[in-house]
Amino acid sequence: MQQKEYVKGNAQQIPEKNLQQEGENPFHTINLMPLGRNKPYHTLSQSHTIINKQDDLFNAILSNMKDMIFIMDKENKIVYMNKPATDEYGVSVGKYCYQVICNNEIPCQDNDMNAVRKGQTVQLERPIKGKVYDSLVVPFVYGNKEIYKMEILRDITGRKQLQDELEKLSITDKLTGLYNRRYFDDILEKEVLRAKRLHHDVSLLFIDIDKFKDFNDTYGHAMGDKILQRLGNFVKKYVRKGIDVPCRYDGEEFTIILPETSCRRALVVANRILKSFRNSKFHIPQKGKSVQKTISIGIAGIGQYRNFSVKSLLVHADKAMYTAKKLGGNRACEWKVSGKA
Ligand code: GH3
Ligand code: MG
Ligand code: MG
Repeated sequence: MQQKEYVKGNAQQIPEKNLQQEGENPFHTINLMPLGRNKPYHTLSQSHTIINKQDDLFNAILSNMKDMIFIMDKENKIVYMNKPATDEYGVSVGKYCYQVICNNEIPCQDNDMNAVRKGQTVQLERPIKGKVYDSLVVPFVYGNKEIYKMEILRDITGRKQLQDELEKLSITDKLTGLYNRRYFDDILEKEVLRAKRLHHDVSLLFIDIDKFKDFNDTYGHAMGDKILQRLGNFVKKYVRKGIDVPCRYDGEEFTIILPETSCRRALVVANRILKSFRNSKFHIPQKGKSVQKTISIGIAGIGQYRNFSVKSLLVHADKAMYTAKKLGGNRACEWKVSGKA
């Protein structure tokens, strides 16, 4: 076998001169010294040619990695790709990386790429062609003081999906599929602050099933769970997707945050949920009959009461719900500044 024409640039083999240079500028200096010569290659593509011809150890190592590796010159032209990168994008040496990797016609001009141009290593998440990659971009100086950058792309799509699922689970109520109390607390605070800052409305509905304990005692807890799921579905059906925030607050109590919604408008939403829920029949197979259930809803908003805190909005919606209960349930009541709903 023909002897390799280079030795790899580990710390011992880096000439002192270059190490000093490294301390003076932010770029790392890569040294691939050809055997029998005392100057580094002038261009990486020359070394790339040698790498290819001689089944180079570096190339073998780099190509056996699962990550895609690209090396670009200062004009963003690809001068090296390892095997995973070639498998994904085809041989693209000589093409512009932004065209090949990002399918863009112009180079990226964001802050991260500007930092790379200044010699900083940058790590970022990049969505590419429906996948998510962890991208490490390392600038370095090579050969005749030319600036190159190496980009290592690691596919983290599976990990991201798992992370997203876990995040979703952590804010979702398992029984109803609505948001949970934790998420409700976070979002209510944000929405109240936002509404105050922008002088917008925000309304809150507090929903409670009437005489639910009796229902559980008569038909069993499992049937009670089905009622909760049914109410969850009605709540989802009558709110604006991606705007309103429907939550299971606790047990048989549900809340809905209605951003940029006046109490008058919230009352319309409340009555829709109330009527459609009480009109729906629940079949009880064990008893061979159907029953209907009702709910009570309290409404509070910060429209007129700009000094409402997050806590007071919740307390007033809850109070309005209890007023609805006192009046016999199966109704929606709005909290008024007089203290009476
Ligand atoms: P009111 O009309 O005053 O609201 O009376 P209520 O019986 O609905 O209210 P109460 O607070 O006395 O009872 C609430 C019931 O909700 C008691 C509890 O068994 C039931 N509950 C709470 N969480 C769940 C749940 O996850 N599943 C089921 N099936 N029942 C639940
Ligand atoms: Mg209750
Ligand atoms: Mg109840």
